[in-house]
Amino acid sequence: MLTEVALCGQCHNRLYTQTSADAPPRYVCTARNKGWFSAKNCRPAPLIHAHIFDAYVAEWFLQQFGDGMIFETIYDAGNGVAERMAELRASRERLRADREAGLYDEPDDAAWFRERYAAMGQELAKLGLEPHRAPDMVRRATGETVLDRWDKALDVQARKEMLMDFGVRVTLFPSAAPVRWVAGVVHGPAPGLAGVM
Ligand SMILES: [Zn+2]
Repeated sequence: MLTEVALCGQCHNRLYTQTSADAPPRYVCTARNKGWFSAKNCRPAPLIHAHIFDAYVAEWFLQQFGDGMIFETIYDAGNGVAERMAELRASRERLRADREAGLYDEPDDAAWFRERYAAMGQELAKLGLEPHRAPDMVRRATGETVLDRWDKALDVQARKEMLMDFGVRVTLFPSAAPVRWVAGVVHGPAPGLAGVM
């Protein structure tokens, strides 16, 4: 769950998971073993059982953000009133132009024209009374909290994506590390949102 999210506190490279037949999966910094220059002082390299680290980070994350309501921004196509009115006006224009060109001069055509023209006017008046809602991007509550979505997440990949969406970065130090600091985070008396383990 924490690959790409978790960094080594000693050398700040990414942690990887290791699995073997005789031990549960664990996160470990392998950068020094790979001979990376930036990790030449990464000793002892931090290592932790994956389920312990996952559970700790999940607990911290849900304490921080679990109650948060999830909003989404969606496209609202509007109710189309303005578009229908514009269409009706254009049709009425065409009808009137035809009438002026003498197309409906026969008595039964003239009657049809008057009826049609009046019906369009009535429909326009009716539409004019309806509230207009123009197309727009709207933000709305999904009714779901971060905790709901976490519980519904199908696999660790989905949870990892949530952590990444929230910009969570976890730094793991070996328990013997005397100095614990995280690159890019100002460390002071107020812990803020930087979780240091
Ligand atoms: Zn390291």
